[in-house]
Amino acid sequence: MVRVRFAPSPTGNLHIGTLRTALFNWLFARHHKGVFILRIEDTDLQRSEAQYETNILEGLEWLGLTVDEGPNEGGDYGPYRQSERIEQGAYKKHCDALLEKGSAYYCFDTDEGLEAEREEAKAKGVPYKYSRRALQLSADEVKANLESGLPYTIRFKMPDEGTLVYKDLIRDDIEFDLSLVSDFVIMKSDGSPAYNFACVVDDVDMAITHVVRGEDHISNMTRQLALFKALEHEAPQFAHMPMILGPDKAKLSKRHGATSVTSYRDEGYIADAFFNFLTLLGWSPESEEEFFSKEELIEQFGLERVSKSNAVFDSTKLTWMNGQYLRKYSAETFEPAVAPYISEDVATRLSKFDATQKQDALFSVITNMNLLSEINQYMDVYVCSEDEHAKMVSEIEFNESNRDVLSRFKTKVEALSKLTRDDVNTILDEILDETGLGKGKVFLPVRLALSGQKSGPNIGDFAHVLGRDNVVMRLQKIVG
Ligand code: GLU
Repeated sequence: MVRVRFAPSPTGNLHIGTLRTALFNWLFARHHKGVFILRIEDTDLQRSEAQYETNILEGLEWLGLTVDEGPNEGGDYGPYRQSERIEQGAYKKHCDALLEKGSAYYCFDTDEGLEAEREEAKAKGVPYKYSRRALQLSADEVKANLESGLPYTIRFKMPDEGTLVYKDLIRDDIEFDLSLVSDFVIMKSDGSPAYNFACVVDDVDMAITHVVRGEDHISNMTRQLALFKALEHEAPQFAHMPMILGPDKAKLSKRHGATSVTSYRDEGYIADAFFNFLTLLGWSPESEEEFFSKEELIEQFGLERVSKSNAVFDSTKLTWMNGQYLRKYSAETFEPAVAPYISEDVATRLSKFDATQKQDALFSVITNMNLLSEINQYMDVYVCSEDEHAKMVSEIEFNESNRDVLSRFKTKVEALSKLTRDDVNTILDEILDETGLGKGKVFLPVRLALSGQKSGPNIGDFAHVLGRDNVVMRLQKIVG
């Protein structure tokens, strides 16, 4: 059974790169009918905050990345928060086992002492490796130090020599020289586990089969593989994903507009569009196709087609793709989707319309929009007051020909008791025929007169929502 984990540190809001890691783990789990685990890596108590954990959960929920085992879901391998695992003694247990068999040792060195070692290595121009001074202590000295309450860390004893060939499911094999790695701290002086240790212990205890994460973690591989070996546990299979870069090929950052994932939701990106887009950042399907449903992605996803080279985040493409998803809505499904984005002011003003008019009004602007949050700016045509409309049109110059078109339009509308979408289109066609003018010379003045704007929804779509009386009233202001 495939068991994968998404292991964020709640030290900041969820951003694109981290969400992509979650997404690929989730797709992998779902494709193999395995288990998707959420593990909160909050051992850095100073920097970890509950609000960030909430933000991470919100992002997962938004994309529909359902968690099978996690802090809120529970499961047989919990707890799933490292801070709770510390309390439960999960790390101490494994650390004691390592101490017992001599794979780890107490270290009472002071910061100054260690700093002096580092300085010495620097002066000699050699890479720093801990001197293992602490290993010189006899068992009695260690005991006495512990009893006297001297602060200590616990270090892992790295193998002295040998190489380790590490196979990655995405990248080429990498060979590591074990002798280059210094003995590292696995338990800090405050009793909390260091990252590499906590991560490996949890992967062991949670029976993780595959670790899918960013390639920035490759640098931890030698230490982690040595730990798995010392803990006498077969290491999971690893897949290190390429990074996501900005269009300027620099690491993706706030500068590229890549803020918290929830801000994409708030701006009106559609979860399915974002899901689709994010999957293509580093993974490619066999076909040239770009649009996929979640089900199709689950079916097709595999680590074999994850690229070795970095992906470039193109926000213009994301917005375009969102627009394509947006246009899949029907009038009925669009209204609830856009509702959370309608401002209070616009909502109040729209309440003068009946339910059908309102639905039509909202749906009429869909082709102009790429983001759900753009709805308010396009509602002006419907929600502006007659005074606001009068002000807008007073600033527009209508020439002789424009006025003629508007008079004809008004007369034809007045002759009707009710204005439908088809009526508007028929009237426009008639005016084209009667005047012999081109479309632009007929449509633009009508649009400007009714909405005060050069672009917007189809005239038929919005004029019938305004209704016969409003249309006549608006034209009257210009042609009397
Ligand atoms: N907590 C680590 C991070 O947020 C992830 C550890 C891992 O995936 O192994 O970068």
